[in-house]
Amino acid sequence: MENPKEIINLLPFSSKKDVKLITRAFYFAKNAHEEQKRFSGEPYFTHPFHTAKILAELKMSPTTICAGLLHDTIEDANISTEELKENFGEEILFLVEGVTKLGKLKYRGAERHNESLRKLFVAVSQDIRVIIIKLADRLHNIRTLDYVPEHKRERIAKETLEIYVPIAYRLGIRMLSRQLEDASFPFVYPKEYEKTKNLLRQKKNEDAQKLEKFQKSIKKGLAKNGITKFSLEYRVKTLYSLYHKLIRKDWNIEKIYDISALRIILSDINDCYKVLGIIHGIWRPLPGRIKDYIAFPKPNGYRALHTTIFTGYGNVVEIQIKTKEMHQEAEYGVASHVFYKEGKKKNSGLFWVTRLLPFKAPFKKGKKEKEINYEDIPRWIKELVEYQASQKLESFTNEEMKNDFFQQRIFVFTPKGDVIDLPVGSNPIDFAYAIHTEVGNHTSGAKINGKMVSLDTNLKNGDIVKIITDKKAFPRQKWAEYAKTTYAKKRIRSAIQAKNEKEK
Ligand code: MN
Repeated sequence: MENPKEIINLLPFSSKKDVKLITRAFYFAKNAHEEQKRFSGEPYFTHPFHTAKILAELKMSPTTICAGLLHDTIEDANISTEELKENFGEEILFLVEGVTKLGKLKYRGAERHNESLRKLFVAVSQDIRVIIIKLADRLHNIRTLDYVPEHKRERIAKETLEIYVPIAYRLGIRMLSRQLEDASFPFVYPKEYEKTKNLLRQKKNEDAQKLEKFQKSIKKGLAKNGITKFSLEYRVKTLYSLYHKLIRKDWNIEKIYDISALRIILSDINDCYKVLGIIHGIWRPLPGRIKDYIAFPKPNGYRALHTTIFTGYGNVVEIQIKTKEMHQEAEYGVASHVFYKEGKKKNSGLFWVTRLLPFKAPFKKGKKEKEINYEDIPRWIKELVEYQASQKLESFTNEEMKNDFFQQRIFVFTPKGDVIDLPVGSNPIDFAYAIHTEVGNHTSGAKINGKMVSLDTNLKNGDIVKIITDKKAFPRQKWAEYAKTTYAKKRIRSAIQAKNEKEK
């Protein structure tokens, strides 16, 4: 049975107030979802509970963890926004509403839309905590995908690989992106998954014995030299990233040298260098593979000492030496390889992430905007944003800033949650033609967020637009003036022209 202690125990520190808040949110969510079941037949509450646990593992704040517990109460348990606000305050309500809004976005599988959908995801969420809750929510859903009806599985897994993984990756949360990838992999590429799994299994068996012996020698070697406080980790490349490397290496696993690596984690930087010295004194390193990322961190902030050595058992192995702190950063933030890979493409990178850290909270308290509580944002995200800010100055010219996607585009929704991406200044006419020419040609009215509006009303980011059609309706001349998009203008003119021809 779930217990709030399971979450609280994961927190590095918790005050009485935190414990009380989390416990309260726990029972509130449990009651709210009481009647519901998951596809697996389990009580629905297991889902928000595990979502909150993932957030606690990511070292998120009690506020964010509570929002994780409550994230489906509005959408799935009919809890009103007033009730949430009364019980948990504006900030938690804001986060829950943000997650609810994101849940309405649907992926329709058109490749060219992925990038705008990703950007939209970010734009709509306004606050990085909303995205992280949504990622945790998705991780639990993908872990339990086996229970979801078969026809839905592939879509959800594909959406995860194409939308959620890149977001987690860009945020440098490798711990999430890796798990999301490996859980989606078998549902999207079942054959390739089997092939990769089998190749890795053979290789792993070959490696395992050698590595076990080698680990013992390392421990002995370090102890002999007075190093006893360390932890030794053995990491194997994840299946999905191995799959990608296999594609590049013509499926020849013998050409991949970093399938397994050993990590030595210490408490102090001096010891890192000492350990490197000890290791090189015992085993012969491969020339050209010794990297001091502590003295010269990678541009993304990654720090560690790397070396590859001959083990003496007929193989080579990569050894990574780092402190606990460096290791944390690599798992949860800044140290992904994102800047390397994306930095090469012009005008990409993490520029848009800077928008995620609200210097003012987007929710209002009284008339003044409330300052955000910085404690609530993990340090690595602050660093990521600072890093971005410094990069931005160097690599973005004014012209590029002006051309920034967000300043030119708005994102609006169909009532079903499909995303339509339009230029700023668009109105329901542009929207109608963006959906389909037939819809445009038979538009008789429009609703924005449930209210009837005139057809020349400017649309705003996040509006839900419903077009009312009538078989007898027909485009009017002035629509062509209203329309912002060339596409709509052309369709309107050609419809009018066609009608005039007919009537001649
Ligand atoms: Mn959920």
